[in-house]
Amino acid sequence: MAGTPGIGPSLPAPLKAGVTRVRSAWWLVRSRGRLDSSGLRVLFYHRVSDDDDPLAVSTRKFRQQMEVLAAEGFRAVGLAEAVDLLESERPAPPTIALNFDDGFRDVGENALPILELLGFRATVFVPTGVVEGTSSFAWYPDDQPPVMNWEEIVELDRAGTLRFEAHTVTHPSLLLLDDEESRWEITQSKIDLEARLERPVEAFCYPAGLFGEREHQFVAEAGYRLAVSCEPGVNGRDTDRLALRRRQIDPRDRTIDFWAKLGGGHDTPLPLRGFYRRVRYGEQPSKLPSRPLRTSPGS
Ligand SMILES: [Zn+2]
Repeated sequence: MAGTPGIGPSLPAPLKAGVTRVRSAWWLVRSRGRLDSSGLRVLFYHRVSDDDDPLAVSTRKFRQQMEVLAAEGFRAVGLAEAVDLLESERPAPPTIALNFDDGFRDVGENALPILELLGFRATVFVPTGVVEGTSSFAWYPDDQPPVMNWEEIVELDRAGTLRFEAHTVTHPSLLLLDDEESRWEITQSKIDLEARLERPVEAFCYPAGLFGEREHQFVAEAGYRLAVSCEPGVNGRDTDRLALRRRQIDPRDRTIDFWAKLGGGHDTPLPLRGFYRRVRYGEQPSKLPSRPLRTSPGS
């Protein structure tokens, strides 16, 4: 795996899977499998494909996970819709927000039919320069899986199951850029995407969840209503809308792990993650009070 700071997968997958399994089992003991349905949880994926890729959840697993949601009576929606529901006073069935990072074509090919079948919706965060072909993901040095092109994105966005939102232009680690570059990545991606989709773009995803006070401010100034980190946890009515929490579903997750992530068993970061990310990404501890900004990799 390429070691470009701020992007791509990181923790060795077998280690991460082992720790995840232990936490899931502990959650199962504590909760007896009861799902905590307070607030809003956001689950995110990258690819849905049978490729051997640490960012690819197999189509079979993805289908099983979506069937778990449906069987439990969950409504799965995109991010903006989920936050609207969180803010509304109306009683609603349990809701989960789903999103896919980076706009890989296999999401349209493999995940979309399953979502459609179950009446689910999801948000897809796309880096506009990668869609354009002028940038690429640094962690795929010579075998980058195809991303959706503009024609597909516009068509799918209008169809309504998938809703496309911004994820910078070139997918950098924003923390490594100077002020102008960071602002440009955040603002220009909104402008580019709005021109293509012919509608307001409301949500932003910090690449790899890496951001600081500066990016938070640029995102607000650009006019985004929502932004997602990779900080795990549940979102309540008082959660900062520009630092929404979410949990990644990993290829090695078993049903118990999915269940535990859905139900609140993985609402805190993995042990040592802050240390690991400081070493790997040179992240600085947050300057924003009471709001953890260190987030998990691979988004
Ligand atoms: Zn990403």
